[in-house]
Amino acid sequence: MLARESVAFLGLGSNLGDRLDSLQRAVDRLDADPRICVDDVSSVYETAPVGGPEQEPFLNIAARVRTRHSPRRLLAACQRVEAGMGRVRTVRWGPRTIDVDILLFSDRVIARRDLQVPHPRLTERAFALIPLMEVAPGGRLPDGSSLAAALARLAPIEGVVVVGSQITVPPADDLPGAAPPV
Ligand code: ADP
Ligand code: MG
Repeated sequence: MLARESVAFLGLGSNLGDRLDSLQRAVDRLDADPRICVDDVSSVYETAPVGGPEQEPFLNIAARVRTRHSPRRLLAACQRVEAGMGRVRTVRWGPRTIDVDILLFSDRVIARRDLQVPHPRLTERAFALIPLMEVAPGGRLPDGSSLAAALARLAPIEGVVVVGSQITVPPADDLPGAAPPV
């Protein structure tokens, strides 16, 4: 049976190669998954790397998706996109052509070894929260607290700058199993 449709929010980042192109290709590949529809993407932010070795700045976006995947299968789909784009896992928090994280999955709380939702570092990372708030207006964490309050706790914020480039949202598609139009 098809899982019902859920709304999830993904955080994407790149700091190797053509970063903007990597973000666009990742969005397109995610949308090409028959169980994922990318409905909206944020502005593109250039952000200073946090943690890990000294490295180049990232471009980050957030995406709002509808999905018929379970959270674990959505993570697997994100990891397939990473692997398909040649990401090699070397240093933790090291440079990467593409990183795709699940930030939120409806109002679910998941605490598995391989998957924590909300993303465990979401509320510590302005580079994740700021784009997320663009595509999740009025957004809240599963505990009911607002994303805006989480962001305010990080003030003053430095090193998250909107850039002039935009990612194109793929044309809307119906996920298989969606109710037919009336
Ligand atoms: P990070 O995204 O923290 O820089 P990685 O992309 O290398 O690091 O992810 C490391 C591991 O984090 C993945 O193998 C995955 O199992 C785990 N993980 C746990 N929760 C999540 C989540 N919400 N989204 C993506 N990965 C997650
Ligand atoms: Mg990741």
